[in-house]
Amino acid sequence: MRVLLFDIDGTLLFSGGAGKRAMTMAFREVFGVDDGFAGISMSGKTDTQILREALAKWGRELDAGLAERFRRRYFEYLRVTMNDSTPGKRLVPGVSELLRELDRRTDALVGLLTGNWRESAYIKLAYFGLDGYFRFGAFADDSEDRNALVPFAIQRASELAGHPLSPEDTWVIGDTPRDVECGLAHGTRVLGVAASEYGEETLLAAGATHVVKDFRDPRRILSLLLS
Ligand SMILES: [Mg+2]
Repeated sequence: MRVLLFDIDGTLLFSGGAGKRAMTMAFREVFGVDDGFAGISMSGKTDTQILREALAKWGRELDAGLAERFRRRYFEYLRVTMNDSTPGKRLVPGVSELLRELDRRTDALVGLLTGNWRESAYIKLAYFGLDGYFRFGAFADDSEDRNALVPFAIQRASELAGHPLSPEDTWVIGDTPRDVECGLAHGTRVLGVAASEYGEETLLAAGATHVVKDFRDPRRILSLLLS
């Protein structure tokens, strides 16, 4: 059995900035700051980490009550921004085909490993009709530290499989050096996806086992991941 853990943003899909717009609106509402995430790089980080960095920039600390209010408002706004007419929402080429193929296999468990909170992860996936493919995952809800997420995902995969699975059975699939790092930290293999801002060389230098540009050649990717 193989465990395949997909990152979301920049790996499966692009939200066309819907995530950042929703976060910015929630931040304005809850913390009274207009452009709260200006100058804060989001890629490969957990949402909790992004929120903490934004608050630090404005001299605030992450308080559990306000953080929860922020999350609630963010999910509401994200439902709006994911469904508005702003351009740029798209899937990485080949994603649907690959997931359909994987869905037919009995030797692969397909899950998520993402810095998104669980609810926002599924809001983004649902827009593209992909939410049903992912029965488990590890999210920002589990840990603020992306590097700590792999064991949560493998534990959940093991429960689904009914027997213990290990990092050697696992691929982390993601678009940033942070995805590569979090897989390597636990001894998984890593498929880099050079579909966003990081190129093949950067992902290989970070330690990715393989790098693909996108998922346009599902047969090759399937044999890579499942052989
Ligand atoms: Mg990503």
